[in-house]
Amino acid sequence: MSTQTVRKALVTGAGGFIGHHLVTSLKERGYWVRGVDLKRPEYKSTDADEFLVADLRSSEACLQATAGMDDVYALAADMGGMGFIANNHSVILHNNALINLHTIEAARVNGAKRLLYTSSACVYPEYKQTEANVAALKEDDAYPAMPQDAYGWEKLITERLCLHYRQDYGLDTRIVRFHNIFGPHGTWDGGREKAPAALCRKIATAKLTGDHEIEIWGDGLQTRSFCFIDDCVEGIYRLMQSGFHDPLNLGQDRLISINDLAYLVARMAGIEVQLRHIDGPMGVRGRNSDNTLLRQVLGWEPGVTLEEGLRITYAWIEEQVRQTLAATQTAGAAGHSL
Ligand code: NAD
Repeated sequence: MSTQTVRKALVTGAGGFIGHHLVTSLKERGYWVRGVDLKRPEYKSTDADEFLVADLRSSEACLQATAGMDDVYALAADMGGMGFIANNHSVILHNNALINLHTIEAARVNGAKRLLYTSSACVYPEYKQTEANVAALKEDDAYPAMPQDAYGWEKLITERLCLHYRQDYGLDTRIVRFHNIFGPHGTWDGGREKAPAALCRKIATAKLTGDHEIEIWGDGLQTRSFCFIDDCVEGIYRLMQSGFHDPLNLGQDRLISINDLAYLVARMAGIEVQLRHIDGPMGVRGRNSDNTLLRQVLGWEPGVTLEEGLRITYAWIEEQVRQTLAATQTAGAAGHSL
């Protein structure tokens, strides 16, 4: 691309897991990229041309972030795994509604050409997800609406916001519903981590400490599908290039229980584990992605196998755990010598 024709993209939530990877992929595709987030990426420096540290709950910050941008990828959200989502309804609804109301309005005011909103499989109604052996969810299943958590309700409202901004103002919007994205350089501890990262951490800790019993929330028979980050950023990009405006699933359609996911990770680690089931938020009983529309619209679907994605993710998390344990031991030894 010549300097004149370089397209400018904004990634909100660029300090987070998917946003960080999306910035890298857009740079590889020749874009000029601005990232914005409350924080810079924690595990690897950003590839963005410009990075604003800002709170997108304010309209001024959103206007500053979207100024001069052709494409807006709206990923910023106050979110985490089930432990966070099930216990922070008001904070999540309040913060994410503010972020999204201001981001889309600022994109319109600043004349952005396209906006992609990252919604979630959490929009789907609880009554369609009561069995572990669940029927895969089609996009139309979102209505009549009954998401389980405030997180999903807010996602649904912002989907409506995108549809109305398109109808009323001609803003060229896209809406993607992710199904459990995982990979390296994502949150793996601290309370906001999701199931694949939490299991990788627990199993890496088991391997490195020799205590092979790991805790699982609930009976572990709840099921999900999991999609690797490289497929996620590829799908986001393909959707942005498409002319498709309605919500679209982006995920894998291989269903697996949390117990079996734990055994799979243990195989990657080369150890045997004993699962101990404890009380904890489990979310819906089963959830899977129906990819019929995805294949039809994008002529593509995620191709990285769960085994391959977990192998890469586990290796990265094992290294994080190893470094953390070493730092703790060093601090302990220093404490002794005082
Ligand atoms: P993440 O938590 O790693 O990234 C979100 C980022 O948004 C964080 O870095 C956070 O600091 C930032 N943020 C939060 N509040 C902000 C604010 N007020 N101003 C500016 N930045 C703020 O999450 P992720 O996994 O990268 O998810 C990205 C998007 O995809 C989110 O909208 C999320 O809801 C959606 N999503 C993710 C998944 C998944 O499996 N990871 C599934 C469904 C939907």
